[in-house]
Amino acid sequence: MKTIKLYDEAPYDREFRARICDVINTENGKTGVILDRTLFFPEEGGQSCDKGTLGGFEITHVAIDGDLIIHETDAPPDSFAKGASINGLIDWNHRFSNMQNHTGEHILSGLLHRDHASENMGFHLSDNIVTLDTAKVLTEQELQSLERKANEVIYADLPVFCRYYTKEEAETIEYRSKIELPDDIRLVVIPSIDICACCAPHVKHTGEIGIIKIIKAINYKGGMRLTILSGKRAYDFISEECRRVDDLTHILSEKRENLISAVEKLLEKTENYRLEKIDNAKKKLEGELEKIDDKAENAVIFIDEVNDITQRNAVNDLASKHSGICGVFSGNDTDGYKFIISEPGGDAREVCSILKNKFDAKGGGSKEMVQGSVNAGRDSILEALNGRR
Ligand SMILES: [Zn+2]
Repeated sequence: MKTIKLYDEAPYDREFRARICDVINTENGKTGVILDRTLFFPEEGGQSCDKGTLGGFEITHVAIDGDLIIHETDAPPDSFAKGASINGLIDWNHRFSNMQNHTGEHILSGLLHRDHASENMGFHLSDNIVTLDTAKVLTEQELQSLERKANEVIYADLPVFCRYYTKEEAETIEYRSKIELPDDIRLVVIPSIDICACCAPHVKHTGEIGIIKIIKAINYKGGMRLTILSGKRAYDFISEECRRVDDLTHILSEKRENLISAVEKLLEKTENYRLEKIDNAKKKLEGELEKIDDKAENAVIFIDEVNDITQRNAVNDLASKHSGICGVFSGNDTDGYKFIISEPGGDAREVCSILKNKFDAKGGGSKEMVQGSVNAGRDSILEALNGRR
């Protein structure tokens, strides 16, 4: 037997009546209902399945197995009588969103093929994310032009045809996604934009998509992975981004168009403040170095953040006068310390081991000098170091 795919001919229908042909236990322990016909699109060709109810019971997944479509549900098997007639209802908002996003992907892939000689290498349409993998890397300008042209296809409100062709007929047509299929081939045609073999429901006119937005493009497997959104999902995304920008204008008390320069100024100010603090800490460190008793064996200093060179010079200075643990810890108790330690009369790596064992510190080095970072307070570090000698 074969489940008739009602969604092929009637992608806009939301409700249907069908006969229950079989009720099975699925591999994942659910009830699987097989009907003579269905509006439920199964998970197939990179697209997630339809949601909805069957006889009032929620359908948790829809799978395709050869010619059969299996509706999975948590309802017990005896909820469905073999041979009986049952009512099915699909979640229209979810379905229409998938139709908008899938047709949007065809437009982008068709334009990539037509104008950039770049094939679609992979496609994934989940309930919240849509990705498209291209064969080639595109420049920023090419991506912008691709997106603009895709939206112009929407403004043109072109028809979208979905039709089955015999293998012989299909051989005479130039189309994308040439996978070897045993039966007739279903082609989705957007005149002058795209012809692609595809099993999914699509919108009837490109205008129904509303908007196509490429929200992210990263290099991927020699080409690119584009994250794309169409229709309501794109609208929701853009609305959210607008709200975020609006919040930023309030936080920074700046106009939208000045946001970037305002953030840059703020970062510059923060960096200057940090450098000033480092400079002050360097002066403070010089004072600390003078305070240490030359006769002491260990010489350990805790100081606010200083740069690496200042810290290293201070350790070398300490090591020229003391034989024990000569260390400078730069940072604070809350964020932790970066340390550089030397031990002229011993092995600095042993000191590093103490910090690693006691405080899970990171770092290492040679017998002469170790460096790393530790998340612990000044007092407990000193206690651990003094406890050794
Ligand atoms: Zn498709």
